[in-house]
Amino acid sequence: MTTLSQDINHHISEPLLAAYAAGSLESHYALVVAAHVSMCDECRARLAAHEAAGAAVMECSVSKNISPRAKSDVMAMLDQPAPAPEVSYTRSGVFPAPVMAALKGKPPKWKPVGFGVRQSILHADKSGSVRLLYIPGGEAVPEHGHRGIELTLVLQGSFSDETGRFGVGDVEIAGDDLDHAPIADKGDACICLAATGAPLRFTSLVPRIFQPIFRI
Ligand code: ZN
Ligand code: ZN
Repeated sequence: MTTLSQDINHHISEPLLAAYAAGSLESHYALVVAAHVSMCDECRARLAAHEAAGAAVMECSVSKNISPRAKSDVMAMLDQPAPAPEVSYTRSGVFPAPVMAALKGKPPKWKPVGFGVRQSILHADKSGSVRLLYIPGGEAVPEHGHRGIELTLVLQGSFSDETGRFGVGDVEIAGDDLDHAPIADKGDACICLAATGAPLRFTSLVPRIFQPIFRI
């Protein structure tokens, strides 16, 4: 399989990668990080460095702060291999293994949300959501702002907005200060994996009508 890594220009930021390595990133963002890491050699190497540093810090604090007996118990626990997941998923078409795991191996259930745009919600709760978006070439996602950060990973095609152009493997990290209207580049439909921390704010009237359908 050819690697995409050399074509990726927009990566996971250092704080997000550190939070992911520490296991403290909310699950909807963690899925986007896992999917990007599965496509990107550079971030895979950076993540390995974070995990090695995290393990060293843990051993160090275990050594300093607890009794030898408790320490040996903790170290025994750390030595145990993590339980293997019951099913392991592999990349299928444009969907990386972590996305296939979220889909439980099935094709996405697309729902139309207007202007040819379709979405498939993988997970949503009060703290945020993660979804697949299908945007026909040349079409726009309604302009919106964010109450939390939004992570968008391109799986197929490309899109552009006020901040730049994003192709396969690229991640856009949009803060809550950004109001933007991503437009799929002409040609192939753009398929993205997008996670947000809270409902999106749409800035114009018409898209607001779509918000209950979008559930974002
Ligand atoms: Zn990367
Ligand atoms: Zn956005």
